[in-house]
Amino acid sequence: MLTLHCPYCGVQADETDLQPGGQAHLKRFGPGSSDDQFEDYMFMRENPKGVHFERWRHAYGCGKWFLAARCTATLEVFGTYPAQTTKPPQDICDKITAKRPGWTWGDFA
Ligand SMILES: [Zn+2]
Repeated sequence: MLTLHCPYCGVQADETDLQPGGQAHLKRFGPGSSDDQFEDYMFMRENPKGVHFERWRHAYGCGKWFLAARCTATLEVFGTYPAQTTKPPQDICDKITAKRPGWTWGDFA
């Protein structure tokens, strides 16, 4: 079972206490964007076997959204951080690099 640490209330929450929210760090495009940019924002998502960044909500806890870095193949969690963060914290990137040298995800590495 997947368990994630909620960065707000400090609880180690089971998967059943959480609501998935899809891919994290989406670059949003709105009015004035090209059709291709808006299409990418609306429909195109990463689907890696390996390092992934996701949005999760502590639905049966504090109710807040947070972000998680984890491996989709092994369910290993590299870290969680507040949803207002625009890019993964350096300590989490360093932890991923130590375990998965050469990883990349979107614009991050
Ligand atoms: Zn919480």
